[in-house]
Amino acid sequence: MCSGRVDLEFVLRAFSNGMDGVFIGGCRLNECNYITHGNYDALNMVLLCRKIMEHIGLNPERLSVEFMSSGEGMLFTEVVDDFSKKVKELGPLGKAEEIEQDELKSKIEEVRKLIPYIKIEKREKLESHLENKEEWDGFFTREEIDTLLGEVVSYHIDPAKCQACMICRRRCPVEAISGGKNQIHVIDQETCIKCGTCFDVCPPRFGAVDKISGEPVPPPVPEEERMIVRKSKTK
Ligand code: SF4
Ligand code: SF4
Repeated sequence: MCSGRVDLEFVLRAFSNGMDGVFIGGCRLNECNYITHGNYDALNMVLLCRKIMEHIGLNPERLSVEFMSSGEGMLFTEVVDDFSKKVKELGPLGKAEEIEQDELKSKIEEVRKLIPYIKIEKREKLESHLENKEEWDGFFTREEIDTLLGEVVSYHIDPAKCQACMICRRRCPVEAISGGKNQIHVIDQETCIKCGTCFDVCPPRFGAVDKISGEPVPPPVPEEERMIVRKSKTK
């Protein structure tokens, strides 16, 4: 129903599946039927995605968003025709950019795993309402996205500080944390979507979750060493 429903994930999935171009048609800006104005979300997502495409090495012209009313059939056919011609000129995805198919797929998949992280990091900008086209071009910059994707953070539980309170495990949205009662908790880095919830919810008196950037994540504690032996209270 709404262009705002077209998620960054949908677009990257389309490219991962080999689509040569993605076109999104939305209602005119400021003419939303609801209070949501989702077309601004679609616009921001496209501006962000184009820079991500540049980061990967893809031509950002392969992604287009246009705004029109449902009564503008002629306009719709014109913009779709123009976009189809442009995509044909660009040629098959990856070939024109001289990126091997396997390499391209793995680059897109790497970014797809980071979508929740990207959305959290760029949350404020993604909520913007850009009123004029002059603002569109420089809204997200290539340098900004290169930095964002080049300095991705990771979360790690410090085994010396974890008190096995289990709060982070319960709150993790993707069940990336293993551990139980009296067991040091461990984050599965492959499953983690870097939402930062564990960092936020670990009680300050424990402060066991570290945010790491620019250095490797320490290896997980071996399973046989995860039991926490608590000192019994002495009178
Ligand atoms: S950052 Fe923490 S809470 Fe978020 S997915 Fe990773 S392990 Fe789970
Ligand atoms: S919230 Fe902190 S102390 Fe509690 S289990 Fe998670 S890392 Fe350990």
